[in-house]
Amino acid sequence: GRRPLVAGNWKMNGLRESVGTVEAVRRALSPQLAERIDVLICPPSTLIASCVAAAEGSSIAIGGQNLHAKPSGAFTGSISAEMLADLGARYVIVGHSERRAYHNETDDGVHAKALAARRAGLCGIICVGETREEREEGRTLDIVRAQLAIGVPKGATGADTVIAYEPVWAIGTGLTPTPADVAEVHASLREMLGQLIGAEAQAVRILYGGSVKPGNARELMAVENVDGALVGGASLVADDFLGIAAAY
Ligand code: 13P
Repeated sequence: GRRPLVAGNWKMNGLRESVGTVEAVRRALSPQLAERIDVLICPPSTLIASCVAAAEGSSIAIGGQNLHAKPSGAFTGSISAEMLADLGARYVIVGHSERRAYHNETDDGVHAKALAARRAGLCGIICVGETREEREEGRTLDIVRAQLAIGVPKGATGADTVIAYEPVWAIGTGLTPTPADVAEVHASLREMLGQLIGAEAQAVRILYGGSVKPGNARELMAVENVDGALVGGASLVADDFLGIAAAY
């Protein structure tokens, strides 16, 4: 079976004092739960080093929220996969809908970044998801399957790749798809992965993200082919994040 992954995406939130949230998660994460699931926190890059230090010796992994596809060079303000790995990051989010919307990230760019993550030994969390308009037009499966087909590198494995299904209209809105809708999308993504990487598709975790809270986590995490959560707002509060992890 696939090991569940509960991941927090802090987005552009957190000053140095927020490292305390990692310490609080570490203190409250029971050994029994840590044995069953992987826990990941993706702080802003300014806090990666101190969060890695705060998580050291625990099972909590730290990750980045974005990367540049090149290993180094004249790309002012950008951070490479190698730099994230050098800090002790183990994962990196790739192609989050906010990057696609505000930084013009394309599926080809996502593909290049996913390759870069693998090059540096990071696990890439490739995000896909439809807008409200696309869902209303009945295009959800077409959209997410195309994002997957272009984004996922050849030879992707369960060790270097995680998929996150995040409907754009569910992010930060308090709205979520029904469990049946989530099941339909995740089954379709699993099938598409099979076309792309064969039997290894069974090893790749597919997370759900978008308004996951302690109150709805159990229902969403119980859906077939949902292998964990990518949590935004609720990951900023240790108790809420742990309340979601407790769905496992
Ligand atoms: P919210 O949990 O705040 O809806 O954000 C989801 C998300 O975008 C995680 O990457």
